Amino acid sequence: MNAEQARARLEEYQASINVRREKLARHVSHREEPLPQDFAEQAVELENDETMVALEDELYEQLRAVDDALARLDAGTYGQCTECGEPIAAERLEALPAARLCIECANVMEG
Ligand SMILES: [Zn+2]
Repeated sequence: MNAEQARARLEEYQASINVRREKLARHVSHREEPLPQDFAEQAVELENDETMVALEDELYEQLRAVDDALARLDAGTYGQCTECGEPIAAERLEALPAARLCIECANVMEG
């Protein structure tokens, strides 16, 4: 994968994350009505909110990872593990275009 292909993949990935964020935002803004009085229902609503926030955080993290990857692309270090400096396997970059770690380092980090 050359730099141009990598950039195209990252931009495509970035766009797909943004679409998901917009959908999520629409979903959240849909329910502006006050919380139901019934406690059980209220608990479910709050649980849903937590899921939404977690999802939003996750999408935000992914966007940041894409920004980082684009910066590495500009710096000419894209595709190199930021931990050990070894090249990241092409299949891994195909699956995770914003990956910053090689599979070995990712396994170590995840314990
Ligand atoms: Zn590594």
